[in-house]
Amino acid sequence: MGKRLFQLLINGLKYLSEVIFPFDEKCICCEEYSEELLCRSCRGRIKKLSSSYSIKKEGTMLRAYSIAYYADSMKKIILSYKYKNNFRALEVFEELAIEFIDTRGLSFDLITYVPLSKKAYKKRGFNQSKLLAERIASVYNKECRDLLKKEGSNLEQKKLSLEDRWGNLEGAYSLKESNCYHGKRILLVDDVITSGATAYYCARELKKITDKEVLILSLAKGSF
Ligand SMILES: [Zn+2]
Repeated sequence: MGKRLFQLLINGLKYLSEVIFPFDEKCICCEEYSEELLCRSCRGRIKKLSSSYSIKKEGTMLRAYSIAYYADSMKKIILSYKYKNNFRALEVFEELAIEFIDTRGLSFDLITYVPLSKKAYKKRGFNQSKLLAERIASVYNKECRDLLKKEGSNLEQKKLSLEDRWGNLEGAYSLKESNCYHGKRILLVDDVITSGATAYYCARELKKITDKEVLILSLAKGSF
């Protein structure tokens, strides 16, 4: 069995076991005893964003929303989800996303997500934004479509300066299909927005297939 297939199988089993079996009464963030997935103390340390913000480039301005700042407990849960396959975090993310969407009255017709390159997908075994996008789509009874792809051997964004991050991603994202979605508002789901470059280039592609707004929603916002 190939290493990649094996990793996918392990991830799949872990995902299933965490969905099927009751949780072990430990907070997913601090791992202390808790009757809820996320204890009150860790939940209280999620620094929520109160308003949307804009990502500007080449005369285009996009409106973006992030549930919280990429700090404290939110950062810890995202890291454990992405790098330690802590899929229980998805339940918390889903709950936070629903609260966020409902409070702000965000409306959308179709949902998609930031894609991973083939190399990154092989390494992680799952797309962290896709799993969240599928959950949100299911809650709001909307379609989740695989609209974008990422190509090229880009350098890891977190190792670059903010300025270089934009250049590194220019042309990296493209549409996977040529269907037209005019009349549909598309919600683009991302995990963490730092420079805004990833979200911007993905949204720029999506603007080619819809004449309506492209909303950007991420779990967390880093500083930029
Ligand atoms: Zn906790």
